[in-house]
Amino acid sequence: MSTATAAGGATSAVALRITEIFHSIQGEADAVGWPTVFVRLTGCPLRCSWCDTTYSFTGGDKRSLDDVLATVASFQARHVCVTGGEPLAQKSCLPLLRALCDAGHEVSLETSGAMDVAEVDPRVRKVMDLKCPGSGEMGRNRWENLAHLLLHDQVKFVIADRADYDWAREQTLTHALAARCQVLYSPVADQLPPGQLADWILADRLPVRLQLQLHKVLWGNAPGR
Ligand code: SF4
Repeated sequence: MSTATAAGGATSAVALRITEIFHSIQGEADAVGWPTVFVRLTGCPLRCSWCDTTYSFTGGDKRSLDDVLATVASFQARHVCVTGGEPLAQKSCLPLLRALCDAGHEVSLETSGAMDVAEVDPRVRKVMDLKCPGSGEMGRNRWENLAHLLLHDQVKFVIADRADYDWAREQTLTHALAARCQVLYSPVADQLPPGQLADWILADRLPVRLQLQLHKVLWGNAPGR
């Protein structure tokens, strides 16, 4: 039986390309530490220099939205994170997000900042990157997205070096990001020592939140964890 979506349509006709669905501990952002089901959508139009999910660029399985919802439900978790790749590169991501919210989940969306977030269900907590120079993808930042951030959303800078930090600080202050939502600074693993980033944040009295990737502390860089 198909499930009604918030938009009044049926989910049985909606399909997504899925790299993996797994149950783990949320390693990043505001929901860090919560048992969470991750729905990783296949494909990304970006190629960040430090990307740690290159295995999601291609492949995956085509699955119906009903099938995805049933798999998510089987884990009996309150928190669900839709990630990628770049999940918004698939148009069916929007009905997926709505349906997960309708099912009563706390839903977060990890997005690159390069795709339009205007139509994302407002119940979803967006975790939106602003790509720093070191990523090689700074030119893809979609600045119009800042107007669609809600208080429960988060902007994330992944920082590889001092040049990235200086750029992130400038954007944080110029756009008054901390007044819009939480601002997360995350060091690129194995490139920038977290303590160095912490020192810079404290020296500049920046109203931002340092992020470490808890799942890598727990399990290294294993896919599906
Ligand atoms: S946007 Fe995300 S998935 Fe895409 S290349 Fe960058 S880090 Fe990787």
